[in-house]
Amino acid sequence: MAINSAAPLKFPISEDKSISSSPQLQSPTMSSEADDCNSNTERLHFLLVPLMAQGHMIPMIDLARLLVGRGALVTFVTTPVNLARIQPIVDRAVAAALPIRFIELPFPAKDVGLPDGCENCDLIPSMDLYLTFLRALSLLREPLEAYLRIPDPSRWPKPACIISDNIQYWTVDVARALGIPRLIFHGPSCFYLLCYLLIDRNRAELEAEMEAASGKPILLPGLPQPIQIRKHEVIPIWRFMPDWFEFIEVLQMAGESAGGVLINSFNELEPWYFEKYHEMTGKAIWPVGPLSLYKEEFDAKVTRGRASSIDHELLFQWLDKQEDGSVVFISFGSIARNTKAQLVELGHGLEASGRPFVWVVKEASEGSVLGLDEWIAEFEERVEGRGIVIRGWAPQTVILEHIAVGGFVTHCGWNSTLEAVAAGVVMATWPHFADQFLNEQLVVNVLKIGVAVGVEEPTTVGLENNKEEVVKVRREQVEKVLETLMAGGEEGEERRVRVRELREKARMAMEEGGSSWEGLKDVINYVKQAKKEKEKDKSKKPAVLEGVC
Ligand code: UDP
Repeated sequence: MAINSAAPLKFPISEDKSISSSPQLQSPTMSSEADDCNSNTERLHFLLVPLMAQGHMIPMIDLARLLVGRGALVTFVTTPVNLARIQPIVDRAVAAALPIRFIELPFPAKDVGLPDGCENCDLIPSMDLYLTFLRALSLLREPLEAYLRIPDPSRWPKPACIISDNIQYWTVDVARALGIPRLIFHGPSCFYLLCYLLIDRNRAELEAEMEAASGKPILLPGLPQPIQIRKHEVIPIWRFMPDWFEFIEVLQMAGESAGGVLINSFNELEPWYFEKYHEMTGKAIWPVGPLSLYKEEFDAKVTRGRASSIDHELLFQWLDKQEDGSVVFISFGSIARNTKAQLVELGHGLEASGRPFVWVVKEASEGSVLGLDEWIAEFEERVEGRGIVIRGWAPQTVILEHIAVGGFVTHCGWNSTLEAVAAGVVMATWPHFADQFLNEQLVVNVLKIGVAVGVEEPTTVGLENNKEEVVKVRREQVEKVLETLMAGGEEGEERRVRVRELREKARMAMEEGGSSWEGLKDVINYVKQAKKEKEKDKSKKPAVLEGVC
């Protein structure tokens, strides 16, 4: 789909906002005031606009830290609820006088029919409100532009580039107004992005084939490995929902107008897919991950994303006592929710496996699953000493990196998958929705570092799941997959060897001169070049936002 680059991208919910208005904004939380003003004027300033979802904000914060490590200035867009979550990270950045500004833009959740304070995907109470939330993000545009007009006491230069989450399509207009490049940050793997593109470009034929196969999985042609795709990937429900359909089209147009794509992955993990994706999109594709390997102190990593719901000292004392590679870690990311019946099945499977475990049950912290707390209390008594239940948010990366952890039961969110690779931990794959089923194929069939739990159908996003007692995976399956994952004979050992090799490659990719280190260098060079060209070409005036910053 082509886009007329001169035409502003508009979406029904966002009127063409006048940028002359200047709403009352709270001062940005700045960690840069100690910086010398004059040295700042020469530095590249990146404006980072993440999607307000844990799986998107967390890697973007890591990216911000990497950029300032390379001498850049960063303005990071956030909202009050999200800023409160990442306050420990902000405090550290302030204490270290890092040139990162966290700006807190007002998000009018209530005005658009969302619950007050619903500022993150994991707070959306129902699937029906997802699109409302995603569209409402465009309302950040006006306060962002107003912020950019405020004279800057520390004389930071104007942003030289926007790195925007793919879903924040409205940043196309901000970049255009500023006359700067807009690069996109994609949350998923390159493998997924390529598969998605292939499905999208061959949808009619694949749909026909899927119908002929009576909805059973079919092979996606054009790939070096046999990759199965499912009905929900070929015929997604948004195809029959005009509002969603229109939204996806807008995202695609915004994606096509981007100057390049940053991906949280590394070339050695999926080289064929990087090359092919570049070939098919014609865009610069920069691997910059695993971003979780960004060097940070343990204490800071413990609060990555938000404060941990468990006393981490007690948790690590317990982990220290376990045998190397013996512990199973179970966590399904920030959005996926399971029914009580499913959680009970999983718990019984864990119990029967006889293995030590750390299990994150975020549903238990929300009080939304009737009877769950009581069940967990009884469960904990039965498994006392052998396992730990975390009710809420876990310090995931540091758990995965602990030597006692030998296996990860994951929903295959891309961050979790990559964090497991970076920690050298094999996976039992339990996808729920979105890109997760394809990530499972990457882990199990391409990289061969995991075993499938055996989920056939996607789960509905969000909490409404809990209304029905859906069970996708039985306790016997859990017990069996844990045996295969944690032992698994020769094949199990081969999986472990492969994932450790990948861990080393991941580390090398992030070291100076490594592929992802070079990827970020190329991003910076691209922006430098664009800035130089703009400065040379005096006729290319940033028409609308002249004088910002
Ligand atoms: N995460 C965490 N603690 C938790 C749950 C999640 O630190 O209790 C982090 C996890 O390490 C990852 C992110 O949140 O960085 C989740 O992203 P992912 O893409 O895996 O899944 P999503 O939440 O987007 O489904």
